[in-house]
Amino acid sequence: MTKKIAVLPGDGIGTEIVAEAVKVLDAIGEKHNVSFEYEYGLIGGAAIDEVGVPLPDKTLELCKNSDAVLLGAVGGPKWDDLPVHLRPEGAALLGLRKNLGLYANIRPAKIYPALVDGSTLKKNVIEGVDLVCIRELTGGLYFGERKREKTETGERAYDTMVYTTEEIERIARLGFETAMKRNKRLTSVDKHNVLESSRLWRDVVNEVAKDYPEVELEHMYVDNCAMQLVRWPKQFDVIVTENMFGDILTDQASMLSGSIGMLPSASVGGEVALYEPAHGSAPDIAGQQKANPLATILSVAMMLKYSFNLQSAAEEIEIAVEKVLNGEYRTADLMEEGKKEATTSQIGDLVVEQL
Ligand code: NAD
Repeated sequence: MTKKIAVLPGDGIGTEIVAEAVKVLDAIGEKHNVSFEYEYGLIGGAAIDEVGVPLPDKTLELCKNSDAVLLGAVGGPKWDDLPVHLRPEGAALLGLRKNLGLYANIRPAKIYPALVDGSTLKKNVIEGVDLVCIRELTGGLYFGERKREKTETGERAYDTMVYTTEEIERIARLGFETAMKRNKRLTSVDKHNVLESSRLWRDVVNEVAKDYPEVELEHMYVDNCAMQLVRWPKQFDVIVTENMFGDILTDQASMLSGSIGMLPSASVGGEVALYEPAHGSAPDIAGQQKANPLATILSVAMMLKYSFNLQSAAEEIEIAVEKVLNGEYRTADLMEEGKKEATTSQIGDLVVEQL
């Protein structure tokens, strides 16, 4: 079996972490008789510097003609002051999601036993946490009409949060389907007490729920969910929510995994899915071999599972990561007493060694 992967390292630590994920793909491919063909593309600031736009048509074509996309991260201070249509995060990431029809972002947040003691949360709160956040990715506030205009006294600006029945239905369905494969509990997060779009959200989720009588559905306000995620995260199995709420809650949930450097993600919905770590380009540590590559490595495990149906290969990567975490080496973000600091590339090598 040969699979073509579009590799978009992007900016900052993107190139460093993607290199490790490719190493791991090569190792697992060899074990399972799958050959991965990589074609590299430009995205984000790197693309602006090279060709003047953050998402070149050539990159988009490459993604559409591949079996899966592996993305590092985009953005950095160098491009922060560019006009909105050229900003790496907005134009490149949102453009890629929209063009590939990736309406759902799946982010598991799980605490590995070896990281429990390093958590900022108490052991009894964090131990055993294993949840999945499903975030709507192509609607809501980030895609609604927006404007900034002068007034007599200054300026006014607005963004709009828009959702249609169809957009809510398909993401709700993914939430229920995911819950069916896990512990059959779904929490739908909204702001039903204030927002009209949330009232539609809740109505549609309740409608879809009729098709999944085995799933225990709970509705939760987003402010309460933010609180519950740090108070008692073990109560969650699957969370489904709209774009901006999901953006914020998934970063918060990332701390349940010990570090944002541990959190993988898959964006699905179209013909080609995209896999990337949940974190950004970390300009503060870029180019120093300090980045934790495990989120990206776990993202390729998700790729094997969701895009290539290679369940056991995916599980082997997850087990290899766990074994590395049980060992003596860690990247700086996971440092604890008694552990030794390793570089990004050393951690990649250790995962390969375990495989
Ligand atoms: P960030 O996730 O890049 O960094 C936040 C903090 O976490 C930093 O201290 C960073 O050093 C640390 N960190 C992140 N990933 C790490 C890893 N793998 N290992 C160790 N430490 C890690 O978020 P930010 O600082 O808010 O944003 C930096 C840039 O990234 C901005 O330009 C932002 O717009 C962009 N960004 C891109 C994406 C993406 O490409 N999907 C997502 C978020 C932010």
